[in-house]
Amino acid sequence: MRGIRDPRLLPIAEKVMEGKRLSFEDGLVLYQTKDLPTLMRLANLVRERKHGHKTYFVHSIRVSQTNICYVGCTFCAFQRRFGEEGAWDFDVDEVVAWVKERYQPGLTEIHLTAGHHPKRPFSYYLDLVRALKENFPGVQVKAWTAAEIHHFSKIARLSYREVLEALKEAGLDAMPGGGAEIFAERVRRRIARAKVSAEGWLAIHRTAHELGIPTNATMLYGHIETLEERLDHMDRLRRLQDETGGFMSFIPLAFQPDGNQLARELGKKEFTTGLDDLRNLAVARLYLDNFPHIKGYWATLTPELAQVSLDWGVTDIDGTLIEERIVHMAGSPTPQGLTKRELARIILMAGRIPVERDALYREVRVWDRVEA
Ligand code: SF4
Repeated sequence: MRGIRDPRLLPIAEKVMEGKRLSFEDGLVLYQTKDLPTLMRLANLVRERKHGHKTYFVHSIRVSQTNICYVGCTFCAFQRRFGEEGAWDFDVDEVVAWVKERYQPGLTEIHLTAGHHPKRPFSYYLDLVRALKENFPGVQVKAWTAAEIHHFSKIARLSYREVLEALKEAGLDAMPGGGAEIFAERVRRRIARAKVSAEGWLAIHRTAHELGIPTNATMLYGHIETLEERLDHMDRLRRLQDETGGFMSFIPLAFQPDGNQLARELGKKEFTTGLDDLRNLAVARLYLDNFPHIKGYWATLTPELAQVSLDWGVTDIDGTLIEERIVHMAGSPTPQGLTKRELARIILMAGRIPVERDALYREVRVWDRVEA
């Protein structure tokens, strides 16, 4: 590869071109280098090797059955207590009615994540999956983070395996990747003390994969974590993926500095910069060689930066969302949803091929043009 300005990138570029795995130290160089054009070219090389110009999105609706939560993660602006202003707590019928009101033809995925409600029994969650599958036949239910699965196992006094088996039996198709935050204990103690541990998160995903439930993985960055801690996070995911092969995509999520305790404690008002976001995506694409997709989640990146990210290793910009609430309650200035046409246009205008997919990354439709 020509034009490499940072000599430390030479051996890394060789490894990438030969399809060899990068070391932890290589990852640190990628985080530190000022030679961003080379970083971008390397990430793009891997993205095109894996998927050519294809770029995926999903017609999906975001649902949070409640925002009542007792866990108290310090970065979270979504959680509410019982009776607090802005709290909601839907019954099964109310969730179904909420989705019916917003239902659009061709909807592929219902994505459910919410707070840890202290009073709902586990049977409520099974009923919810069953009701969604009954009322919206053909739509896939991608539901509940490992943190929520851990909560269910505590309230139902069941093992992770028993919880996941019951959810799968009820119709669960896939799991989102939230709750991972940053695995390092130092960070977790400060930002997510009462949540599932890193080991618990990984054990739940391992079990889900063993049961044939594919999952995603996230990383919340841009707060107090070091670059080594970001890499350690990815390293643990890479090792689990070597074992199971059950992860579909990796989704870096930028910390949103509004309305949460952590932002107040840190005196932090700024969002991560575009370059930090892009660099992080590129490092993920290069380091996580065994992950099929790196997702540039437009709701935190902005649609404009998500479009740019397609040259930095990203092969998926997530979905229509319809009414996203979690990152928007933390200050994300992006729209709460985009249409399929808007998503396809963003991708086409970047010179890539928009592919509408389902929750399991099966192709639904290739958009070769955008209808007026
Ligand atoms: S991130 Fe999730 S578990 Fe943590 S406080 Fe917010 S809703 Fe609760």
